[in-house]
Amino acid sequence: MKNVLYMVVPCYNEEEVLHETAKRLAEKYDSLISRELISPKSRVVFVDDGSKDKTWEIIQELHNSQEIFLGIKLSRNSGHQNAVLAGLMTVRKMCDMAITMDADLQDDINAIDEMVQKFHEGYQVVYGVRSARKTDTFFKKFTAESFYKFMKVMGADVVYNHADFRLMSARVLEELSKCKEVNLFLRGLVRTLGFKSCNVMYERGERFAGESKYPLKKMIAFALNAITSFSTKPLKLITATGLFTSLASIFAIMWSVIVKLTGHAKLGWSSTVCSIWFIGGIQLLGLGIIGEYTGRIYEEVKQRPRYIVETFIDGQNE
Ligand code: UDP
Ligand code: MG
Repeated sequence: MKNVLYMVVPCYNEEEVLHETAKRLAEKYDSLISRELISPKSRVVFVDDGSKDKTWEIIQELHNSQEIFLGIKLSRNSGHQNAVLAGLMTVRKMCDMAITMDADLQDDINAIDEMVQKFHEGYQVVYGVRSARKTDTFFKKFTAESFYKFMKVMGADVVYNHADFRLMSARVLEELSKCKEVNLFLRGLVRTLGFKSCNVMYERGERFAGESKYPLKKMIAFALNAITSFSTKPLKLITATGLFTSLASIFAIMWSVIVKLTGHAKLGWSSTVCSIWFIGGIQLLGLGIIGEYTGRIYEEVKQRPRYIVETFIDGQNE
């Protein structure tokens, strides 16, 4: 049976959680292997995304103590999405299925059983979906849920409340490897690949230790990437706004001519100033949105590597 599972776990400054995550994953693997759900050749791959703390030393230590742990070190911090992709692309030919999961144990590892089960039932993609966010702060919950709703309004096809906890078959990974975009938004990208998929529900827990590596700045950048990579609605909105203001200006002109002709022409500066600000604002906003897209086209045409693997300890040469 084809059942080699590789887990890809991106880690950025995760020294506080790694030991515990590794311990729990090793237990999970033991139980899955003993039930013959996965092969004993299955592995856990930690991707060190240019951490500044002891993350890489811990990964090496884990690899030396237990053969199920492998490690990939990226040459610098490339961001969560790129770290996940680096892991997946490095191991895709060694496994039959891969699961991506955060290092902080916020995703329930007990959902892995059901994900693997679904893979055996013939599903190629299994999305881990958060059924509740009881432990998230109000701010995180609000921003995250607004994000999913906004994406929907923008016409991008994403699974509501699904982050990057997901199983993909080797076949799907092969297709994913053909997508060369630099501005990565994996949740949307995997969706566009198609294949038979299903959801597995789980409750999102609290970060085991340490702080979120996603400050507001990174969250905004992430959301912007998501929208611009999967929707051209903002561009269409500019056209619609332009059309609307042009029509409105025709009425404004007619009105001012009537006022002039009827001799009530005390046309002060307030109306002029207001319209200058209004039109100026809309124009700048429009330019800004077009700029966001153009900037991304610029990044895409350069085709720079999305990540650089500095070291891969794959346990083959020992
Ligand atoms: N992460 C990463 N590179 C980064 C930022 C985060 O690899 O530049 C990893 C991080 O170590 C964690 C996962 O991505 O395993 C999700 O990050 P985090 O838990 O901080 O995000 P949150 O759950 O708060 O959205
Ligand atoms: Mg987290």
